[in-house]
Amino acid sequence: MTEFYADLHVHIGCDSKGRPVKVSGSKKLTFENIAKECFYRKGVDIVGIVDAAAPGVISDIENLIDSGEMTEIPGGGIGYRDRVVILLASEVETSEENRGRSHHLILLRTLDMAKAFSRSLRRCVSNVFFSTPVCTMPAKDLYKMAMDIGAVPFPAHAFSPHKSIYGNCVRRLDDAFPRDILDSIVAVELGLSADTDLADTISELSEYTFLSNSDAHSLPKIGREYNVMLMESPSFDETLKALRRKDGRRVLANYGLDPKLGKYHRTYCSRCDRTFRDLEPPILSCPGCGGTSVVRGVLDRIVDIQDYPVPKHPVHRPPYRYQIPLEFVPGIGPRSIDRLISKFGSEMAVLHTAREEELAAAVGDKAAHLIIEAREGRLQLVAGGGGHYGKALINDG
Ligand SMILES: [Zn+2]
Ligand SMILES: [Zn+2]
Repeated sequence: MTEFYADLHVHIGCDSKGRPVKVSGSKKLTFENIAKECFYRKGVDIVGIVDAAAPGVISDIENLIDSGEMTEIPGGGIGYRDRVVILLASEVETSEENRGRSHHLILLRTLDMAKAFSRSLRRCVSNVFFSTPVCTMPAKDLYKMAMDIGAVPFPAHAFSPHKSIYGNCVRRLDDAFPRDILDSIVAVELGLSADTDLADTISELSEYTFLSNSDAHSLPKIGREYNVMLMESPSFDETLKALRRKDGRRVLANYGLDPKLGKYHRTYCSRCDRTFRDLEPPILSCPGCGGTSVVRGVLDRIVDIQDYPVPKHPVHRPPYRYQIPLEFVPGIGPRSIDRLISKFGSEMAVLHTAREEELAAAVGDKAAHLIIEAREGRLQLVAGGGGHYGKALINDG
């Protein structure tokens, strides 16, 4: 078996005709460009494109298959140049009884399944043409609809404050799902501001495989978070086995931002314009003005709902490895990033394997040193909150 790099949450900005799919997404983020970016720059082997139920995207996929540029592979998924496999997926927003909204990813094995899901979705969302369509049904009904056609649903960025199952819907998954659905869920996506140590303080999560995905809205952010999976070959069927930890397939490691760098790590009050980084979590209302309409931090929410004070990792849990993407490394601009990627083949090679001397030959001693400091976890980090990323600082001395 072989190790593959998988990022299962990437958005489409617009279709090949220039019609927007995700308004906040980059225009360059088309189905074809995502495949190319993974192939030429990122070294991502399996990429989940989560707007594959949008009709404009479906027609792009059909054209790419008809022209021979891409092919449907037997184990499920769309193959590009013998190396990159695209998993079709859809992100959908649901609404619970308490009116809390949450996002969910649905993996779709084939283009036919994506079309069938798109047709079912059309009946219950306001606009199937756009990214992350909003439906009024609760998550359990969406899961039933997906599972009925053989699709694989799971919670997206499970702790983020605005749109997630733990963030603003429920304190326990069994408040949202009946047992049979809970037992069929294969994975939980952690999101940028959480990691395995935080999520494993919630006992009901011990059975689930964790995913660390980028939720990229632009080409450079693809692979900012990813999973290393051990399997026979990249495909939908093999990925599903890895998530279920069957026949030796499994996730070997999660790579993600240090959660402090995430946009919602700590609670933020917009009235006071303050992120409460230095206060003991959980901060659930503003210590400054007393306001309760704060943007609750992921750390604060997890501490509020956890049932273990310290993480208890199940034996199957792989390591979570922190990575600081090049764009977060202080003093490294877009030109240096391009030079590094073209020299080492991918951002991952720069971040994890290139030696300091080799880096220095490309971008100079100072930048090379910072990349190594970031790799070894020696940069000081300032926590993010309220939609603002955290920061890495250059150490003095
Ligand atoms: Zn989302
Ligand atoms: Zn305040």
